Amino acid sequence: MAISSFHPPRRTLMGPGPSDVHPRILEALGRPTLGHLDPLFVGMMDETKALLKYAFQTSNELTLPISAPGSAGMEACFVNLVEPGDKVLVCVNGVFGNRMIENVTRCGATAVRLDFAWGTAVEPAAVEAALKEHGDIKVLAFVHAETSTGALSDAKTLCGLAKQYNALSIVDAVTSMGGVPLMVDEWQADAVYSGSQKCLSCTPGLSPVTFSDAAVAAIKARKHPVQSWFLDMNLILGYWGEGGKRAYHHTAPVNALYGLHESLVMLQEEGLENAWQRHATMHKALAAGLETLGIRFVVDADHRLPQLNSVYIPEGIDDATTRQYLLANYDLEIGAGLGDLAGKVWRIGLMGYSARMENISLLLKALAAAMTEQGLACDAEKAIAAAQAALV
Ligand SMILES: *Cc1c(COP(=O)(O)O)cnc(C)c1O
Repeated sequence: MAISSFHPPRRTLMGPGPSDVHPRILEALGRPTLGHLDPLFVGMMDETKALLKYAFQTSNELTLPISAPGSAGMEACFVNLVEPGDKVLVCVNGVFGNRMIENVTRCGATAVRLDFAWGTAVEPAAVEAALKEHGDIKVLAFVHAETSTGALSDAKTLCGLAKQYNALSIVDAVTSMGGVPLMVDEWQADAVYSGSQKCLSCTPGLSPVTFSDAAVAAIKARKHPVQSWFLDMNLILGYWGEGGKRAYHHTAPVNALYGLHESLVMLQEEGLENAWQRHATMHKALAAGLETLGIRFVVDADHRLPQLNSVYIPEGIDDATTRQYLLANYDLEIGAGLGDLAGKVWRIGLMGYSARMENISLLLKALAAAMTEQGLACDAEKAIAAAQAALV
């Protein structure tokens, strides 16, 4: 059998990522490929770094995209800052905190684990008590926006506590960048990683990272070489560093970086504050619509992520049946629950280009139809009206 070209349908992506990719970004991806050391491409790399400093709200020189997905950004932060024998305090309130523990132990370091109920934020008082109790914590690691549950933690306070107890901070901002305030310099965060496929609405596969001066000093003072050759920031810097001189490290994903550059240009055009506001407003509209359908949120209103809405599946409604119905009849994707929440919740993303009123109306209409089909009569029109009313 001859296999022919792949032509995917146009879905609406309202899960935990990837989000809908803006047509302008898809168009940028198809532009002519340049050599990765072409001076024009090198100029674009410098612009990308400048745009990322804006998105991170930092003046950190070591700010660049890792040529791999968000998980690689996570690994880059851990392998560069953590050495064998170090002690790392890891806050776990969802899937991604657990992955941080894996990273720490694979670095040959000791993870001190601090658990919080899934769906809640990291509790600063518990973090302070642990920092005080141990006294020799080198790094405090936590997830700012837990995509597995929809909870937002107070990164400013947590980074401040790390400083107060002479620890460095590693912050997972994969889902936060572009969706909620992320202020790397103001919060004095030390190593922060993000991803291209969430609120930046770019294609998956790139991970912006930034390292503070204190983090760079810790990397320079290492006793052991970084265990990962590919993610060693000392080597990556030779490729992404300032000035015309570039040493070959790997071949940058040239066209993928056109996409990231375009998404960051769009973020700059919209303005960070406006992007945050748009996510907050769209979340308000979605919440009003879902509540009209009798659907409840997992996370307290005070700690809810606007861009990732975890909601309980109503009684009598089947998880997989519903998600298949949305995909088959509306070309619409939402996310399933993970871990303890599997089968109990849906995760509805309003990330980047997905955070639009037309997506919210489509989702409410589709969900109402799916639930009506399963014997729970729902009024889609009323839900959409409630969402629209919440906009004003
Ligand atoms: C998506 C995500 C990641 C991993 O990013 P990938 O691009 O899937 O590797 C890490 N942390 C959080 C909080 C995420 O939402």
